[in-house]
Amino acid sequence: MHQNSASSHAHQSVSIIGAGIAGAWHALSFAKAGFAVTLFDRDDASMTRATSHFAGGMLAPWCEAEASEPVITRLGARSLDLWRAELPETPFNGSLVIAHARDRADFDRFARLTGEHDRLDAAAIAALEPSLEGRFHDALFFAREGHVEPRHVLPKLHARLTAAGGTIKFQTECDPDELAQQSNLVIDCRGLAARDRFPELRGVKGEMIIVHTDEVALSRPVRLMHPRWPLYVIPRDDHHFMIGATSIESEDDRVSVRSALELLSAAYAVHPAFGEARIVEIGAGLRPALPDNLPRIAIEKSKISVNGLYRHGFLLAPALAELTLNYVQRGEIDNEVMQCS
Ligand SMILES: Cc1cc2nc3c(=O)[nH]c(=O)nc-3n(C[C@H](O)[C@H](O)[C@H](O)COP(=O)(O)OP(=O)(O)OC[C@H]3O[C@@H](n4cnc5c(N)ncnc54)[C@H](O)[C@@H]3O)c2cc1C
Repeated sequence: MHQNSASSHAHQSVSIIGAGIAGAWHALSFAKAGFAVTLFDRDDASMTRATSHFAGGMLAPWCEAEASEPVITRLGARSLDLWRAELPETPFNGSLVIAHARDRADFDRFARLTGEHDRLDAAAIAALEPSLEGRFHDALFFAREGHVEPRHVLPKLHARLTAAGGTIKFQTECDPDELAQQSNLVIDCRGLAARDRFPELRGVKGEMIIVHTDEVALSRPVRLMHPRWPLYVIPRDDHHFMIGATSIESEDDRVSVRSALELLSAAYAVHPAFGEARIVEIGAGLRPALPDNLPRIAIEKSKISVNGLYRHGFLLAPALAELTLNYVQRGEIDNEVMQCS
């Protein structure tokens, strides 16, 4: 389905399944381009079953370069522009990476494997985050990175879709093949539920804890070097903080005592006042991952499946939606993420 004339798009119906971050960005991008979009999700508007509900929402293409392929940084950097254009209020305060003395080697390795950062000394850290004064001797500051609050941003994107003329149908479970009989194009963004399309899809468990305290104030995500996982503390509204996230090859979505201890210890290591914080929520989401941990846009006649967003859904969704739209409008192929059958 290639369309060159924008004026003809209103007659082209596009059904998108899954209103998580991938589906939300695809729906909005297609609606703004003039397509007649309907977005379906089996969940209700609270979206508490979506992986997107549990995410940190970090938009950190340069930090992620430590453990990701260059394509993640390329698409992530493009996404930052698209987030800015769509939601100019998105905070781009940067990310801070800190380490205790015992994790110095990991910190140096992280610095070598990533770019676009400045090294900060203790005074510069305190100037940026006064709560951390006297606690760390040096840090890496990724000034161009941002973050969104997933539970606020999803409803915002859904509202923008409606404002752009699209329709959302919650509590509606769909089958892509059946929908393809009724629509010109189906975009399948079902996340982990799309195993019928991607049998090799797996869930990678990410556990997180939300706490509340008035005793610490942070303006940006703070990542703490950790031998096993990139642990972080992300400030949220009203003195809440999300502490994340483990990365475990398991599809059991309950949180283990061991993980909870590690997450809470990480927050305590960032600032001991987290020891007095109140626990608001403990939860886990399953990241939809393909064997290479890279995103895929699979094109098959009038069906396009977008999946494998793994730990980068918020970082990549805008750029992936743009690529899908460019394909549909102009037949452009991105060889790194697209697969045609
Ligand atoms: C703890 C944690 C922290 C994370 N932190 C970050 C981060 O900081 N930055 C980042 O970029 N990414 C992060 N991620 C990764 C990110 O959350 C995922 O990559 C992303 O949420 C995947 O989005 P998705 O839209 O593909 O899937 P989902 O969010 O799971 O959405 C799929 C939707 O499809 C719906 N659905 C499924 N089947 C059907 C059907 N048949 N009919 C109708 N609807 C259906 C589901 O109800 C669901 O709402 C994190 C993940 C976790 C778990």
